[in-house]
Amino acid sequence: MTTTVTALAQDIGLARETDYFLMKDQLTEDELGLLYRVRQFAEAEVLPVVNLYWERGEFPFELVPKLGALNIVGDTMAGYGTTPMSAVGAGLLTYELSRVDGSIATFFGVHVGLAMQSVYLLGSEEQRQRWLPPMARLEKIGAFALTEPDHGSDAVILEATARRDGSEWVINGRKRWPGNAVWCDVIVVFARDTDDGQVKAFVVEKDNPGYAASKIEGKVSLRMVQNADITLTNCRVSEDARLQNCNSFADVAKVLKGTRNTVAWASAGHGVAAYDIALNYAQRRTQFGRPIAKNQMIQSMLVEMLGEVTAMQLYCIRLGRLIDDGKMNDTRAALAKYFCSVKALHVCRLARDILGGNGILLDFHVMRHLCDTESLVTYEGTAEIQALIVGRDITGQGAFT
Ligand SMILES: Cc1cc2nc3c(=O)[nH]c(=O)nc-3n(C[C@H](O)[C@H](O)[C@H](O)COP(=O)(O)OP(=O)(O)OC[C@H]3O[C@@H](n4cnc5c(N)ncnc54)[C@H](O)[C@@H]3O)c2cc1C
Repeated sequence: MTTTVTALAQDIGLARETDYFLMKDQLTEDELGLLYRVRQFAEAEVLPVVNLYWERGEFPFELVPKLGALNIVGDTMAGYGTTPMSAVGAGLLTYELSRVDGSIATFFGVHVGLAMQSVYLLGSEEQRQRWLPPMARLEKIGAFALTEPDHGSDAVILEATARRDGSEWVINGRKRWPGNAVWCDVIVVFARDTDDGQVKAFVVEKDNPGYAASKIEGKVSLRMVQNADITLTNCRVSEDARLQNCNSFADVAKVLKGTRNTVAWASAGHGVAAYDIALNYAQRRTQFGRPIAKNQMIQSMLVEMLGEVTAMQLYCIRLGRLIDDGKMNDTRAALAKYFCSVKALHVCRLARDILGGNGILLDFHVMRHLCDTESLVTYEGTAEIQALIVGRDITGQGAFT
């Protein structure tokens, strides 16, 4: 049978929903409902346009109100216009978005998991009331500026400064990489108080004098997400823009703990997508007069991928339940992020091999998943840093320096 490349690409794009160890049996009705709502949106609205936007490196702004209409902004927050959901539900949401596209999942993760959670976890009641409701409706979009040009893995020693001047703060410094920051409405900026030397958090509005953001060009991963280089030059904000419960880097870590779980779920989404595409392709592509799926080596690769995908799914569902039971800690989050991001990258690599030359074409999606997964291994703390966090826990020996 001869199949055109276009027909083959359309065919392999169909969802398979691999769930070999019956993860879905463990979900509540609400969680299943959320999963299917997001899946329907991602497949109907995101999938048809994603490769076009990814190739152009542009963000699909028209999807934001549609995403808002889904009422899926909740994460582990309660109140302030958010939608109640379990941690497993929040994870599934990321999983489903990532299964179709990592940029949309990252846009959403930065807005909800980093920007909104910073306000929720570190802000006063008044600050939560002020910022969270419009953000929950996706009317105001947020970003999160921790990383600096000279401080990524060691963000704990960030250099941006905040000097108190009467009822105001004057912020100076540079930030690098924040997603959404080129066009967001508000951005949570972390800077060191020149008085007590501790890290404080400030909500900066996009048109605040002294704040400037420029797009990082030439990015070949998560191309739709607009990451920025930021300069803060005598950027003045009032005391009521300082998140009142952020008093040191330990408070920043409370926000980061949650996002490591999100990256684990995102990795599982990319992994299962790549596996499904590879399996569909292997069953349709014929070489030497038979489907390539009939080759032992291809089957061995597929089984290896299935094993890793299943492990990621089981990690994630357990991770979500631990959060819901209040038993999650930093090192478990670090191990899950480490394992799932590294394995997702490996699964995407194998999928790309199985697709041969077609594997590098956007039409077949796996190359996009592979490129996007590269960022997952790095952001929210690199795989090496997660390994060091877990290594310190199990050996009692810190190896960071
Ligand atoms: C797509 C993308 C989106 C991002 N979004 C945001 C965002 O929204 N907001 C934000 O604040 N930041 C964001 N970041 C920044 C991200 O968190 C950092 O890239 C990450 O923390 C790593 O820092 P770095 O890139 O400076 O790498 P470096 O810290 O320079 O690390 C380089 C290499 O050295 C290794 N390394 C460093 N120290 C050690 C050590 N002690 N032992 C062993 N190995 C070590 C690292 O693991 C890595 O392999 C984003 C990054 C990317 C790529």
